[in-house]
Amino acid sequence: MTMKYSRRTFMKAGGALTAGVAAATTVPKKFLSWAEEAGQKDMKQIPTFCELCFWNCGLIAKVENNKVVKVDGNPLSLRGRGRLCGRGNAALGALYDPDRLKFPLINTGKRGEPVWKRATWDEALGLIAGKMRVIKEKYGPESMALIYHGTGASFWKHLLHAYGSTLSAAPSFAQCRGPRDIGFVLTFGADVGSPEYYDFSKSKYIVLLGSHLGENAHNSQVQDIVEGISNGAKLTVVDPRLSNIASKADRWLPIKPATDLALLLAWIRIIIEEGLYDKEYVAKYATGFDELRAAVQQYTPQWAETETSIDSDVIVAVAREMGKNSPNVCIGAGRFSAWYGDDTQRSRAIAILNALLGTWGREGGYFFPTGAAVPEYPGLPAYPEHVEVAKLDASFPFALLPTTTSIKQASITGQPRPVKAWFVYGSNLMKTMPDKQETIKAIQNLDLMVAIDTMPMDIINYADVVLPECTYMERYDNINLGKFKGEGEIALRQPTIEPLWESKPSWWITRELGNKLGLAPYFPWKDGEEYIARRCEAGGIDFAQLKRDGVIIKKGGSPYITADKQPEFGTPSGKIELYSKQLADKGLDPVPKYTRHAAPPAGHFRLLFGRAPLHTFSRTSNNFMLTDLQKENALWVNSKKGKELGLNNGDYVSLVNQDGVIANGRIKVKLTQRLRDDAVYMNHGFGVHSKGASRANNQGIADDDLITKPAIDPIMGGTAMRGNFVKIVKGA
Ligand code: SF4
Repeated sequence: MTMKYSRRTFMKAGGALTAGVAAATTVPKKFLSWAEEAGQKDMKQIPTFCELCFWNCGLIAKVENNKVVKVDGNPLSLRGRGRLCGRGNAALGALYDPDRLKFPLINTGKRGEPVWKRATWDEALGLIAGKMRVIKEKYGPESMALIYHGTGASFWKHLLHAYGSTLSAAPSFAQCRGPRDIGFVLTFGADVGSPEYYDFSKSKYIVLLGSHLGENAHNSQVQDIVEGISNGAKLTVVDPRLSNIASKADRWLPIKPATDLALLLAWIRIIIEEGLYDKEYVAKYATGFDELRAAVQQYTPQWAETETSIDSDVIVAVAREMGKNSPNVCIGAGRFSAWYGDDTQRSRAIAILNALLGTWGREGGYFFPTGAAVPEYPGLPAYPEHVEVAKLDASFPFALLPTTTSIKQASITGQPRPVKAWFVYGSNLMKTMPDKQETIKAIQNLDLMVAIDTMPMDIINYADVVLPECTYMERYDNINLGKFKGEGEIALRQPTIEPLWESKPSWWITRELGNKLGLAPYFPWKDGEEYIARRCEAGGIDFAQLKRDGVIIKKGGSPYITADKQPEFGTPSGKIELYSKQLADKGLDPVPKYTRHAAPPAGHFRLLFGRAPLHTFSRTSNNFMLTDLQKENALWVNSKKGKELGLNNGDYVSLVNQDGVIANGRIKVKLTQRLRDDAVYMNHGFGVHSKGASRANNQGIADDDLITKPAIDPIMGGTAMRGNFVKIVKGA
């Protein structure tokens, strides 16, 4: 099998038809018997999928008198397997939030100090279309950008392409998983997927570095690791904090922050020098072993101990445990990987370690996934020919996707070409991009700023026009395709009730805007259902079955290397590249090299942040079913250190960072032995400034207020956010 990573791969929404979608088993009757048992005609069950995080688990909504009263997991869903996490169960909190955006709004004040005027859809879309025409005329269509997160974005990408721009970027690339993906692509010629292709349930040994697995509650992945541990897998977790998953580990390695690459390089050296690597696998599939071996000689366990503060005996012991269990080992690639600026290289070190242990395509390591495909809507006109005037990310040779970093800079400087308008879809940029002041500066330079969202989060206040999208429970979205072990998934999002207030789905908004822009031939569909039905029809997929079950499964072949199934690597050499000539050719380190990062100045702590199991940042921070359970974040401080500073559990404090920036609001102290004394930790997504989000407003502190110094990854333009330091100020 081949897993190639390219800009094209990422842009592709559906891909070509693959033959033979197997007839799925249907949803078991017990999941669908609710209405029948009640014997009422106005009760029904409607399958769709969750959007409270990107895992997109299948759910079944129970609807009574046109009101959703409950949601359950869809047992056919490969992402959830009949279960929903705590957030997924709070679908009603998202749907019936009285703070939702209800009508189109036009800002008659300033960006950042809005004065809202309620508008009709015709008025709001007419205003946007008029400005888009002028911008296209003045600067060219490529000056229009889409910054997005979420399933509904595909209709916005389609609109942008039809208008003549290909400039769309997701913060989840530069600010989250991009460094990880590029590190693996440079090594294996393929990324690790989303959901990741971890074969945890069959692993004998699992290593996680800085992973919040469990706190991120990614449904099927949590089920897999629980199964793996129940089956006897040993778990080592490297983290300055005893995270939830670290608390389940056989070994917790409380590493000094910012030194993970030192540990990885020492492990690589031990595994090579002690002959613990999979010699046959490396000889057959990898290239650059000798160069790698020479480059890591300096990274002894004793040296690594001084850098990481982890005992050298423990470093050696873990390396031997990995070697002993090879190849049924999974060294997790992580997900949020934009940490310190050398993140692609750290991810490459993880990839190299996996390669040495022969885990790629092996049971208990990384499986080869099976996908599913549905053709595009038939008969659409070709997009206007794209002529790139100047590449925004030219200084990052392996930015295989556009970065928000470059869009922001081009919006401020006009270089290498002007960006004058943003559509911001489903992404609260005040929280998803570092250096808020710079983001605001970029927005103030635009000729048009449009926000499309369901909730009045901070970003809304910087928009000229706000378009209220209906929630995932009220709309059709594009078909969702997923790759899994031995099975591929086609999943349907469909409305469970009619949209509330005047909110609309993206298929409708983009079609109406397209019509106003003279792009009607690109939007021939009558409605969202017809759009999906035509795609299914073109692919020979039973739409009625998809509507009834929510999911259709396609069976695939072996997820592992076998005598008949040999791997293909999408690298220039066609092999696993332990030494990367691609990087060398661009003047970058062909083998990861350790550079020491700055330590916190006196009196400061490194600011660490992460996920809470009951929230997905701005998606849920105002959800009344979840704020009841967690309303604000807390500041984790090492107990001993906290006592030295005169802090008590529950004290409220404020925080100031290395640049003298004070975070808005205050945060409650949590003294704990589960954290080193050189860092503090908080959940991301709290401290919302928007007054419109009445429950989330001013609850806790926003870590993003304090992230004013991102480090830029020179390989792919990622913005690393863990190099910021804070001082605790008492008496807030
Ligand atoms: Fe929804 Fe939870 Fe699944 Fe995410 S993991 S899609 S929040 S149920």
